[in-house]
Amino acid sequence: VKTPPAIPGFTFEKKPYADLVTDFLAIPGWTAELLGLSTDGHEIYGFTYGDTANRPVMHVQGNVHGLHEWRTCYWVSKFMEYLHNPAGLASDTAAAIEDLKTRYSFSFIPACNPDGYVSNVYQNGNGVNLNRNFGDSAPAGAKWEWGPADPAHAQYRGPSAFSEVETQYIRDRVIALRPVSFMDTHTWSAERQGFTSLISRVAEHEPLVSEFHTELMKAVGMWPDGDAPHNLNESSGLAGNWGSATVSSQGKTPISITFESGGGWPVERQSHVGMTAILYHMLSVDAALAPPPSPLITGITRAWGPVMVNGLESPVTRVDVMQSGYLMPIWTAP
Ligand SMILES: [Zn+2]
Repeated sequence: VKTPPAIPGFTFEKKPYADLVTDFLAIPGWTAELLGLSTDGHEIYGFTYGDTANRPVMHVQGNVHGLHEWRTCYWVSKFMEYLHNPAGLASDTAAAIEDLKTRYSFSFIPACNPDGYVSNVYQNGNGVNLNRNFGDSAPAGAKWEWGPADPAHAQYRGPSAFSEVETQYIRDRVIALRPVSFMDTHTWSAERQGFTSLISRVAEHEPLVSEFHTELMKAVGMWPDGDAPHNLNESSGLAGNWGSATVSSQGKTPISITFESGGGWPVERQSHVGMTAILYHMLSVDAALAPPPSPLITGITRAWGPVMVNGLESPVTRVDVMQSGYLMPIWTAP
């Protein structure tokens, strides 16, 4: 029995931010650019891999929220290492990554909110929840102004859309690179054990959202726990919603996902699910963009058949995956 591609987790501990940046800059194969300083004066770097001028770009970012979400910095940057050199992974997983690299380039911002990382809060140095500070999801989506206006609120939207330097750096990077996909990584609550994803522009991307979840469930041996997918009209100022409304190099909107890997998990499991989710989002985007018969994720579906989780056929159908409230009752540690 073959195993679906997956990326194993790893253990790590929180380092001083400056040491983390040193680690980012040491990852081979990537081009670093200092995007600017955070509100509190910490360096924020953007990284690119491959020919961004001539190959569609896939964008991934971490740590828009600080506090317990600091862990995203580690598994997002670990994925950057694997993207350059997947030789340490299982052969099917490495092959999937090498195949993606023949058609795409990549943009990563592994630490979007160093103030939150350093100060151990969700917000940046101005007390703004950056994931409420992005602009309107034009043309037919949420408005920034729908977010909380009270500076004491944990989800304070800021004085204006893109009032914060951190969201400006992301905005300018995305507009410059015009990615075909946009992935914003989180670890939701500090207690939550499970994963979920909020998908923007659901109707437009429904088939591949379904594929993404189906394949990810098989790869990590569990199914989602939460309120995926997401309605573009319901939450304002979110990075993922804004990103989904930009224009990609293909003249379409990017395929956007806000992914949450359980904040209550040990880091090894959180990083396993998080990095595998990054891979499967990329595969599902490729399946949507590449002409048949090349889509890898379709091949994976054929190869591994129905959704089997821990030896049981998943109760989650592809329609169910599109709805809220389904269960994640079983997890068997690998
Ligand atoms: Zn978050």
